[in-house]
Amino acid sequence: MSSTAAMFRVTARWVFPVSSPPIENGVIEIVDGRIADVRQLRGTADDRTLDLGAVALLPGLVNCHAHLEFSDLASPLGEPAAAASGAVEYPFADWIGRVVAHRRNRVTALSELVHNGLQEAMNSGTRIVGEIATGDWAPEFVDWDSPRVVAFRESLCFLPEQTTPQLELSRQHLARCRAAVAEDRSRAIRTPDWPAMPPRVIGALSPHAPYSVLPELFESLIQLAADEQVPLCTHLAETRAELEFLQHGTGPLRDMLSRIGLWRDNLHPTGRRPLDFLKSLARLEHSLIAHGNYLDQEECSFLAEHPQISVIYCPRTHHYFGHAPHPWRELLVSGASVALGTDGRSSNPDYSLWNEVLWLDRMTAARERPLLLELATLRGARTLGLGVETGSLEVGKRADTYFIPLTPGAESDPFRSLFGPAQSR
Ligand SMILES: [Zn+2]
Repeated sequence: MSSTAAMFRVTARWVFPVSSPPIENGVIEIVDGRIADVRQLRGTADDRTLDLGAVALLPGLVNCHAHLEFSDLASPLGEPAAAASGAVEYPFADWIGRVVAHRRNRVTALSELVHNGLQEAMNSGTRIVGEIATGDWAPEFVDWDSPRVVAFRESLCFLPEQTTPQLELSRQHLARCRAAVAEDRSRAIRTPDWPAMPPRVIGALSPHAPYSVLPELFESLIQLAADEQVPLCTHLAETRAELEFLQHGTGPLRDMLSRIGLWRDNLHPTGRRPLDFLKSLARLEHSLIAHGNYLDQEECSFLAEHPQISVIYCPRTHHYFGHAPHPWRELLVSGASVALGTDGRSSNPDYSLWNEVLWLDRMTAARERPLLLELATLRGARTLGLGVETGSLEVGKRADTYFIPLTPGAESDPFRSLFGPAQSR
């Protein structure tokens, strides 16, 4: 420890390291933003120890999939009554039309939308966001008091002439994110007391989906992610309509492309399935499948053998669209990687990852609560390539933390005090 190192301790009734069992009256010692010790408090807190009292101290939450550009929406874009019943699959192509119309008509600047979304995420415990970056998204949108952002530059490509410009936009995005990190580092060197902060923004790539990105660009973006060693996220196996589009080139998604003048014959090969994309993604160190609602048995088995590809389950969005049951449990049991996301306010009421956890808690047995906590923290950090430095309260990791008041009357039981009474049905 250098002579200028800033050390302090925090204690709470329950500390949840996630990588090990909860500690009653736990204390974490933090030196220059990193965890130096995690243990049980012996005796009473001294004047260098902040006592948070009857709270659960957790690692900061990790939201692996968000579209913060929709932070201005008070409720999802659609017909909640039809969707909330969960009885039918909400017409996805219609919903995309609403998203496009909303983007066209809004007046708020993207910088403000992203800023507001990040603040909402921060206030509900999220410390890292996997954000889908669209339009004129820039690293400067991310403040120091925001969650850190893995910024997946979204590409859309319906016509061959869009391929080269879209690839160039993605390259520029990675370069801008790198330049922002270099600028932060040089500032840290010029200011010796500046704590050793991690990058605020990490550049990443996102071909939107198989039906909205022509094969040549899709493959080029995977190659770019491999060359630049950055994560890549794509929406895959999200709807039955997508499966039909890949296999036959027909259905609601083809109709939608025709309606908006972006369908051309012979550009989208048929006879394809999500597995073809999984095989291409397997060569990346970290790739993310947003949703994966309709992965078949063979695809789930492939994911079990390739944990470098993570499925991002967005529970409330999944429910909103009324999809078939999600295979997240089966994937986890088989050894596949799963993490959580909120998606956007276009299909979800808020950007609180903890609300996703509480939603899942209603549908899972109380014994699975440690797993739910792990999904929201350590598994998310690993998914984004940040598992070595954050996601759990372990010595050497960054002190990314969040605390939640305990449920009164349940303080002696760590998971009951954190989640409240068992809710599973
Ligand atoms: Zn999405």
